Amino acid sequence: MPYPLRVALVAAASLLTGVALAFVISAIEIQTDLALYGLSVAFVIPVGAIGCGFVAAVGYYAASRELHVRPTPALMSIPLATAVVTFVASHYFSYQRYEFAPGRTLSDVMGFGEYLRAAATETSLSFGSTGAIDRLGSLGYAVTAIEIVGFAVGGWFVANHLRSKPWCSDSHQFMKRTERRRQMFEDSESFQVVMEKIIDDLERADARGAIGVLSETNPSMKESRKAPLSVEINHYECGACGADHSVVTTYARKGNQWQQTSRSEIHPAATLGHVQMVS
Ligand SMILES: [Zn+2]
Repeated sequence: MPYPLRVALVAAASLLTGVALAFVISAIEIQTDLALYGLSVAFVIPVGAIGCGFVAAVGYYAASRELHVRPTPALMSIPLATAVVTFVASHYFSYQRYEFAPGRTLSDVMGFGEYLRAAATETSLSFGSTGAIDRLGSLGYAVTAIEIVGFAVGGWFVANHLRSKPWCSDSHQFMKRTERRRQMFEDSESFQVVMEKIIDDLERADARGAIGVLSETNPSMKESRKAPLSVEINHYECGACGADHSVVTTYARKGNQWQQTSRSEIHPAATLGHVQMVS
C-alpha cells in the first residue's frame, strides 16, 4: 500500500476514534454533569484532559502500528489535530443534545460559536473547602486553553512512545517483539556473572545466546520479591527482512520500586557486532 494512502488511513482512524470518544465524553457530561476533560489537579494540571488525550490517541497508535507509519515531526499534526477535534466535537455533541427544558436543546437558542464562548466564560470552578468562582469570565479562555493543551499532551505522549518502538530502517516497518525475559538476583556476584555472559554474547551479536543465558540461570529466583537486582532482555525481529534488535535493561530495587540502571541495544546492523550503550 503506498505511503500517502497509509498516512491518510492513519489520520482517518485517529479522527474517528477522537469523534467516538467525544460522543462518550458528551454522553457522560449530559447524564452526570461531569466534564471528564475538566478534571484537574491544583487547577493547572489538566489530568482529565491528558487522560482523554491518551484515549483519543488509541486509534492513531493502533493504525500507525498496523500500517507501519512511524511518527515524524510532520505526522505529529495527526494526534494534535485529533486532540483539538475531540475537544471541539465533545462540546458540539453536548450543544446538540443537552436539553435545558423538555425537547429544547441549546442548539435551538444559540449558535455554536456563542455556545463555545459561553461554555468557557460561564463555567464555574470549585476548589475544595476554600471556595469557588461561579463565573470565570475571560479567565475561562485560559482554563479552556489548558484543557486543549492537556488533550494534546496526551496525544503527544502516545506518538512519542510509538516513535521509541524498534523500527527496521531497511524495510520501513515496526519490528515485532519475539521474546521477553526477566530475571531477579539476590546478590551482585551472580548478577555480575550473568551480565558478563550477556554482554559477551551481545558483543558477538549473538542475541539468541544472550537470551539463553537468562533461561539457564536460577529459574527458582524468578518470583523473588526481595531481590535487589534484575535484568530484562527484549528481543525484536523485522517481519520482512528478519533483522533483529535486542534491548537489555538492568534495574536496581529502590524501596518498592525498580529503577533502571542501564540500557544497551543492538541494532539491525548488529551483524557487525556493534553494541551501543545508551546509558
Ligand atoms: Zn527489515
